[in-house]
Amino acid sequence: MADKNNKVPENVPGAWYVDNELCTPCRVCLDEAADLLKYNADESKVFFFKQPEGADELAHAASARDVCPQAAIAEDGE
Ligand code: SF4
Repeated sequence: MADKNNKVPENVPGAWYVDNELCTPCRVCLDEAADLLKYNADESKVFFFKQPEGADELAHAASARDVCPQAAIAEDGE
């Protein structure tokens, strides 16, 4: 389960984040939310470069969360 105290450091501030320990990174989520998520510099993790705004982006974020096999994406951040 993702932990808001263990975000990938590059995550922009906000509710949505990727957990730094759980992300493998398998890249499955990028197909769901390429408008919000991308690899970090060494491609060792994925992170939210943008917080979702509006219904479409929120749906993309939710899809990314739902397909993540590691349950590394959550929305209880701050
Ligand atoms: S689907 Fe989950 S484990 Fe895979 S890259 Fe995305 S956040 Fe990381």
